[in-house]
Amino acid sequence: MTKVWATLLLSALPLASLADLNIFACEPEWAALAEEIGHEHVDTNSATTAFADPHYIQARPSLIAKVRNADLVICSGAQLEIGWLPMLLQKANNRNVMPGTPGNMEASSYVLRLEATGNVDRSQGDIHPQGNPHVQTDPHNIAHIAVALGERMAKLDPENAAIYEAGLADFSARWTEAIANWEKRASELRGKRAITHHKSWVYLQHWLGITEVANLEPIPGLPPTATHLSRLLSQFKDGGADFIIHSTYQHEKPSDWLSERTGIPTIMLPLTVGGTDEATDLFALFDDIISRLLGATAL
Ligand SMILES: [Zn+2]
Repeated sequence: MTKVWATLLLSALPLASLADLNIFACEPEWAALAEEIGHEHVDTNSATTAFADPHYIQARPSLIAKVRNADLVICSGAQLEIGWLPMLLQKANNRNVMPGTPGNMEASSYVLRLEATGNVDRSQGDIHPQGNPHVQTDPHNIAHIAVALGERMAKLDPENAAIYEAGLADFSARWTEAIANWEKRASELRGKRAITHHKSWVYLQHWLGITEVANLEPIPGLPPTATHLSRLLSQFKDGGADFIIHSTYQHEKPSDWLSERTGIPTIMLPLTVGGTDEATDLFALFDDIISRLLGATAL
């Protein structure tokens, strides 16, 4: 009997976490934020990486197992993960993390969503029907979400509440200081005009005063077409934009095509932590985004 128990325990070990809170994040930025607040008390997993389009991933069995073991599921929401998260939650069948429970958190519901038109019709191909879900590109949004996440972690793991409160306070102080530095560094970006591949950067643009003049996608979620690109070429052949932005996971071909014909420089930006060698954590992510934008405007 003892031997059986020992075998059972051993086989269960790889799934069990030694941390106090098991956090399943849909995107790397929320895993990184939970680590900033909880340090060694949290064990985090991210469903997506900076090299995948968060709108579309496969609900793999390894992800189902992770949701099954999670105490908290945190996702951007606003339908960003509608193509895969509901199935993941259903298959994992973990009642502690179902929508509406304390173990389920939608990050974008703690900030003012931009482009919320109230049009919930996806039939035109628009994959942002509840407003833009890419809220992590404004650090002020992350500050608000950090407060909500810290409170949630304390509620789910009351024994460590004081630790999460202290972690949140420490993060918030460092984050506020970092935002002031980023805003100082980025002041010359105000008024610049951006063409972006997908509508991934509306919060960053809103924050830094950059104007979005066009997208390579004809509608959010529809890949760039030859017709749309030639339309953009005639629109921008004599200027009218300062840079073309694409993210790590997007093909650089459409950006390069337009850049070669218009002379407008392209910039590859990490949409989340891990998207470049430099973007190793949330602080480094914004350092890198601003450096890359300033580098392109200095050309
Ligand atoms: Zn999107």
